[in-house]
Amino acid sequence: MEPVSSSTSLGPGDTLVAVDVGGTTTRVGAVTREGAGDMDRFSSSRLGGEPLDSLAAIIHAAVPHGKTLIGAVVGLPVSFDAACIVALSSPNLAGFEGVAVAKELTKKLGVPVVVDRDTVLLATGEWISGAGAGAASMLGVFIGTGIGGAMLVAGVPYRGASGGAVEVGHLPIRDHGRRCICGNIDCLEAYASGHALEAIARDAGVPVADVFTHPAAAEGVATYVGALAHGLAAAVNMLDPHVLLLGGGLHGRPGFPRDALAAAIRQHLRAPVPSTSVEIRHAILGSDAVLHAAPVLFARAQTGRRSAPLPVPC
Ligand SMILES: [Zn+2]
Repeated sequence: MEPVSSSTSLGPGDTLVAVDVGGTTTRVGAVTREGAGDMDRFSSSRLGGEPLDSLAAIIHAAVPHGKTLIGAVVGLPVSFDAACIVALSSPNLAGFEGVAVAKELTKKLGVPVVVDRDTVLLATGEWISGAGAGAASMLGVFIGTGIGGAMLVAGVPYRGASGGAVEVGHLPIRDHGRRCICGNIDCLEAYASGHALEAIARDAGVPVADVFTHPAAAEGVATYVGALAHGLAAAVNMLDPHVLLLGGGLHGRPGFPRDALAAAIRQHLRAPVPSTSVEIRHAILGSDAVLHAAPVLFARAQTGRRSAPLPVPC
């Protein structure tokens, strides 16, 4: 049982289930007053068919024997409207577009369900208990199948006017006409997604598991790092966060060029700020971050304060 500081808000016997749905892997874990158990992982392809039915079954199955499900918090790799009700776009996950996910899951489970972008859960967990702890503002960027971001101001996500803020993966960074999964051309994800990395490995003739360490892929990986650095530096120059937190499945792989990426980002930061002010940190919780975030996001949803207020002029 892993201690979760935010779980003390739960009553005896209460169970909150946290789910992190990824483009390729989904993880689920239960949080009780005593802390959190290990997360189970399985292929996201299990969500095929009727994904909401599958999710409901997965949530039920995660409740420990003798405990009571009081709610669930689900992170999805999709864009929501500003109120986090309807999934607007989900290029990395089929079956969710146009669906009021929380409402439908609440109906199926009979308990309140909170949904949010996966990046908001991951960033919030790192801000509460991980590498982002104490940051007055934090841009979390998660590098995996896609590249997602979340900007927390005093721990609360900034969502923009329509819910589409901090789409780091879709910053245009090149002029080569390469198609992105979102339909636009030359987005960061067209050059630095998991699929782009697979293509780099294929071109170099090395297994994708070895792409960061095999000399034959070094040139391709340098191009990948350069693309990431352009996108991430643009985001930092725009948002000026106290902390840039890097995480995600690919970032957590052995051999991921963390130092080279941090150095390349810094090359493109505006001086003197944010070049000298931003701290670059690396996520430490992995997918477990959602277990730390779940009780806080669940409680916030009950009080209605889910977004950072728009900044006021100085
Ligand atoms: Zn795009």
